[in-house]
Amino acid sequence: MTIGIIGAMEEEITNILNDMNVVAAKNVLGLDFHLGTLNNSSHNIVLVRSGIGKVNAALCTQVLIDLFAVDAVINVGVAGAIDKNIKIGDIVISTDAVQHDFDTSALGDEPGVISRMDTSVFPADAHLIEVAKKVVSDIGFPVYEGRIASGDQFVSDPAVKERIAKLFDPVCCEMEGAAIAHACYLNKIPFVIIRAISDNAAEGSDVNYERFFREAAVTAGRIIKNMIAEI
Ligand code: SAH
Repeated sequence: MTIGIIGAMEEEITNILNDMNVVAAKNVLGLDFHLGTLNNSSHNIVLVRSGIGKVNAALCTQVLIDLFAVDAVINVGVAGAIDKNIKIGDIVISTDAVQHDFDTSALGDEPGVISRMDTSVFPADAHLIEVAKKVVSDIGFPVYEGRIASGDQFVSDPAVKERIAKLFDPVCCEMEGAAIAHACYLNKIPFVIIRAISDNAAEGSDVNYERFFREAAVTAGRIIKNMIAEI
């Protein structure tokens, strides 16, 4: 099987790339798609840095599907915690994903509902979730799974966090996962989002992000590398 791995930023993919046996690379839309294998797994891997935000993430996912025929997509990266129990450095596994900044509520729609689509909540793949849970618990981390809320904003205002928490009850927020989920849903491709927490999406999250995101990215990458061996 061919597995696509997407990180938004260089720091989120570099540790995975270092361990890859890269056999080819292709540049599409200015993005470097690295093709190869990882550790002793028989799966083909396509690793790419999408760039930040929902549009970059969705476009990158579609290229992975159209040009590289991936059978599954894993999104790796860092995120801001929403669930109070989840601390910086913890790992979060998606059960589903929503776009918290999609809003036509002025017209009477619920916030987050993508009008005229059959769903706005994109479920992650049950098998990929199970593999992720095993890998996370095997290395001794607490297993947190739940909804991931994505939007084109870095959340650092407590009022914004509270709104997202109330409306969507997610475990964390970030800027790409639900766009990847959306693209995978339309293409009927299984996905999961794995994020390590870099900040708490409230006061001080800018400082915490800068301090912890590199370390969090390494942790998230470690989970992905272990997952590939188990899929
Ligand atoms: N100028 C910064 C911008 C990073 S944006 C830089 O280049 O490093 C934050 C990134 O981390 C996004 O990819 C997002 O998915 C994730 N993220 C981490 N904490 C977040 C938060 N509190 N709110 C939104 N996204 C967050």
